[in-house]
Amino acid sequence: MWIWGLRVQFPSLTPLNLLMNDNGMQKATILGKEKNAIETRVDLMDKRVQRGKDRGVYAFMQVSDKVDGIHLEVDGRPMIQFSSYSYLDLNGHPRIQEAAKKSLEEFGTGTHGVRFLAGTLRVHIELEQTIARFKQTEEAMTLPSGYAANLGTLAALLNRNDIVISDKLNHASIVDGCRISGAEIKRFDHNDMEALERALAESPEEATKLIVTDAVFSMDGDIINLPEMVRLKKKYDAMLMVDEAHSLGVLGETGHGIEEYFGMVDPEAIDVKMGTMSKAIPSVGGYIAGSRKLINYLKHTVRPFIFSAALPPASAAAAKAAFEVIESEPERVKKLRLNTEYFISGLKKRGFNTLNTKTPIVPIVVGHEYNTYTMTRIAAEEGIFAVPVIAPAVPAGTDRIRATVTAGHSIPDIDRALGVFEKAGKQVGVLF
Ligand code: PMP
Repeated sequence: MWIWGLRVQFPSLTPLNLLMNDNGMQKATILGKEKNAIETRVDLMDKRVQRGKDRGVYAFMQVSDKVDGIHLEVDGRPMIQFSSYSYLDLNGHPRIQEAAKKSLEEFGTGTHGVRFLAGTLRVHIELEQTIARFKQTEEAMTLPSGYAANLGTLAALLNRNDIVISDKLNHASIVDGCRISGAEIKRFDHNDMEALERALAESPEEATKLIVTDAVFSMDGDIINLPEMVRLKKKYDAMLMVDEAHSLGVLGETGHGIEEYFGMVDPEAIDVKMGTMSKAIPSVGGYIAGSRKLINYLKHTVRPFIFSAALPPASAAAAKAAFEVIESEPERVKKLRLNTEYFISGLKKRGFNTLNTKTPIVPIVVGHEYNTYTMTRIAAEEGIFAVPVIAPAVPAGTDRIRATVTAGHSIPDIDRALGVFEKAGKQVGVLF
């Protein structure tokens, strides 16, 4: 079993005997005491995490005591952030802070429950109108998180007679949404439009088909071939849902996202536009934007909208202000683009494999789990905060540091990180 890159493998841990009970269920005795399957999983995870900590390579859930843009303090040590999703460095922006404070004063810290019943505030409606305008759709709705938006929307749109066609590297929230929808799932090779066409062509003509994809892939940083995807969706009479978690504020001359990047103005290209407000937008919550009828349907069927609390008013107001700041300060998008190019080309020049990234998500492929953890530790010792991503979260042999660069980094910050990664890469043998 794999949990978030941590392999929980029965035979690898000793002393541990596997037994089968009368129903053929796995049971285990650990140090002589019989454990049920749940206790066994819990124990194994505990051991694995402890082993990582004992070796000094456990890199998850580190606590930042202070945050000032890309500058952090972790365990009393100053660090430069190289794994932030705050692509435009908007966290702490005065106008956004002010909007959150004003809304806090006006509405308090919480809501009176779920959006569907008593939780809808004026600030939610204003945010949704802002998103609809930003994404050029008739309407939009907000949800407690991006995860909830994908899960709830896919489950509400699809049923078991339908076919959902999903890129193999789509985010976990899409994978989970496809699963709980009950629809037939067809997965096509990553960004392979011929494979997508085969999946569409093999599907019965009369079946309802939804293609779903990330715009920018969260592990590799590459961009979906949207123009070809739209051509195929039209040819095969399918619908298209696109997750803009990592393209909103990032792609396109003015940060409006994937359509702007490809210069597409067709209002019928994407039927369901999903995004999150936890990355370039420094808040929390997910959104779906689309036609008036689609949003009306989803507001009455998406379970996290109906059964989970509304966004706190300060978060909603902060998100609305952030959309406005993206438009009023376009220089941030430009700086992000320049920093991205500088960081990727610097890594390539030093001999790193950064796959196919064209965005601020930059994989630094190490190819081996332990070396990846070691490189992360060396970087941390040098004051660079970056996170490891290990198979099976990524394909075997592509274990990596998944670095990100933002509009908040200066060229000297990036130079410093490049030097540290080079030194760490040489120490673990990725660079020679
Ligand atoms: N989609 C993608 C592509 C993501 O990367 C993420 C978050 N990592 C989500 C959806 C979920 O968004 P949220 O954090 O707002 O739940």
